[in-house]
Amino acid sequence: MATRREFAPAKVNFGLRIVGRRPSGYHELESVFAPLDWGDDVEVEWRPGAASSFRFELTGPGATPDVPSDERNLAARAARDYLDRAGETGAVSIRLHKRLPAAAGLGGGSSDAAAVLRALDRLAPKSLPPGGLAELAVALGADVPFFLGSGPAWVRGIGERVEPLAGLPDVWLVLAHPGSRLETARVFAGYAQAGRRPGPALGAPPELPPASNATAGVWREALRNDLEPAARELCPAIETLQARLQALGALATGLSGSGPTVYGLFASRPAAEAAAEAGVGLGPAWTRVAQALGSG
Ligand code: ATP
Repeated sequence: MATRREFAPAKVNFGLRIVGRRPSGYHELESVFAPLDWGDDVEVEWRPGAASSFRFELTGPGATPDVPSDERNLAARAARDYLDRAGETGAVSIRLHKRLPAAAGLGGGSSDAAAVLRALDRLAPKSLPPGGLAELAVALGADVPFFLGSGPAWVRGIGERVEPLAGLPDVWLVLAHPGSRLETARVFAGYAQAGRRPGPALGAPPELPPASNATAGVWREALRNDLEPAARELCPAIETLQARLQALGALATGLSGSGPTVYGLFASRPAAEAAAEAGVGLGPAWTRVAQALGSG
């Protein structure tokens, strides 16, 4: 029997552009994905044997009723898919300690699934051939391939084209969440129904300078998210939270993925902490300071 623990970070998107639509209906995007120093913990145990069985345990403050605590959880599905693909059998036990809110635009479920894939590939007698993990990942969800890596990345296609970025400037984020869920599918449907059309591709990641008053304009442009109008229509608190973060001194604000989590960009930790502590003063909304992994 062998056990492996993996950290499953949240992500934010530094900008998101919709640049195409596939016949399947999936939208093609371009986005800088940044993993954060906040996330879930995943522990995977594998006891090789002739028969397969799966146990799944969900704990933590993020284990809310909307997160499946059985084989429907994306982390459990990832384990089943891995064993099928690897042609392996055995008793797999997964313990997921969840901190990230679900349907928040922070990629929690995708990160959990990728953590399980990484763990099983390390525990397996033989890891999958190159590209094998990535194929399993994209079949589980568009954000899962990004989470197979450990740093920031330039992500394209429907999420399957992942190019690691050397690093990000040292910026501090204040995450603000309105306290309610927003389903990704609803935001994409809103985007399409409003007759919005994909725009031109940038083709290369935007230059992200160190954060300062002088570079605030560059950041504001880089953080443009084409899903924002649709997300704001479904969740008006998004706009309010961004305005509050701006008033609290954020150099620029962004929407992560399809939301509803928004973030403000700050040049220093004390500035971010002061803003997070002041809070956004909106019903059940909460704030939290985070930093991108691989920044600085
Ligand atoms: P994205 O950033 O890709 O839009 P998200 O952070 O908005 O993702 P998730 O946290 O992945 O969304 O949750 C979306 C839904 O997936 C949940 O409402 C829940 O029903 C389901 N789900 C399945 N497995 C998980 C998991 N491990 N963690 C959270 N949600 C899960």
